[in-house]
Amino acid sequence: LTFLGIESSCDDTAAAIVRQSGTGTNETRTEILASVVSGQTDLHAAFGGVVPEIAARAHAEKLDFCVEQALELSGVDLGDLDGIAVTAGPGLIGGVMSGVMCAKGIAAGTGLPLVGVNHLAGHALTPRLTDDMAYPYLMLLVSGGHCQFLIAHGPEEFTRLGGTIDDAPGEAFDKTAKLLALPQPGGPNVEAEAEGGDSKAFAFPRPLLDRPNCDMSFSGLKTALLRTRDEVVARHGGLPRAIRRDICASFQAAVTDVLVKKSRRALAEYMALAPETPGFAVAGGVAANRAIRAGLESVAAESGARFVAPPLRLCTDNAAMIAWAGIERFRLGHTDQMDLVARPRWPLDRKAAPLLGSGK
Ligand code: ATP
Ligand code: FE
Repeated sequence: LTFLGIESSCDDTAAAIVRQSGTGTNETRTEILASVVSGQTDLHAAFGGVVPEIAARAHAEKLDFCVEQALELSGVDLGDLDGIAVTAGPGLIGGVMSGVMCAKGIAAGTGLPLVGVNHLAGHALTPRLTDDMAYPYLMLLVSGGHCQFLIAHGPEEFTRLGGTIDDAPGEAFDKTAKLLALPQPGGPNVEAEAEGGDSKAFAFPRPLLDRPNCDMSFSGLKTALLRTRDEVVARHGGLPRAIRRDICASFQAAVTDVLVKKSRRALAEYMALAPETPGFAVAGGVAANRAIRAGLESVAAESGARFVAPPLRLCTDNAAMIAWAGIERFRLGHTDQMDLVARPRWPLDRKAAPLLGSGK
């Protein structure tokens, strides 16, 4: 099966071609033949955040080009495709609509099947694209906009165990960088600054650890950081480099601690299902952090679960994961019609909302 994937739910316009050959579980081989990602960071930089209207226009302008480029790089013709997968939500509605319209146009012109994909399912199914992870597995999605534990039971079946009740950790890293006058994106810069710092120098809050659930909170960190910075500046008349290192190291330790302890809890809930080949995967930009990654890996090892962290370019927004999720849905015999709608909100958990679109 060869699928075109289209992604435009936030500030990256992306198109990809993914091919799965063979049909038996043993002889299947999955290849990403092309994965084009065109970011919009420059367009939004002056506004200090993604501006939905600008994003939608940029997607509409760049989608055709990204699709053409993916086809060209992969050497695949439209005629070689078996289907078109597109992010149908959740996300900024103008961007999602641009992608859905583009996919519908190609589907109408070629007669190819159209498969709507939940963006979060795309992230959550990535460990099966990169590492052939077996269902059911536990997934921690941790990025600039999300932080949640999911058990993936199948391509369209997810249970949400818990997640952040306020900010996402990536957002906290970005705000920390801003407060400490480090460049954006905050994650990698705070991580670099944390190196050599004393992670015990400051006791930053680790909320909700006493709660018997998988919920997390990161908004209090911001306030604590602001207070700490102001105290340091008042005392030293500035922010000495060594203290900034300590603040970064202590902040990173607090985030890691919360993620590790809640992962341990989520893993215990997941292990209660007695999975045959237990697996724990992580995705999202924050998964790039080495301290966090190492912490999660050791939690997986404690319970004998296989740990998978896909390469960063597949952890952040891309269309290969959308093409892949499309292939998985298509294999279940699920496709969409021309009435596929773009949805700004679309929780993955069945209990929260109907699952993946109108597919039958
Ligand atoms: P979403 O996809 O959930 O809507 P997003 O597009 O902001 O959100 P990603 O692109 O997956 O998320 O990740 C970007 C986030 O990851 C940023 O907040 C960035 O600071 C964070 N990040 C990147 N590298 C690191 C790192 N090494 N350590 C911590 N955080 C990091
Ligand atoms: Fe995403």
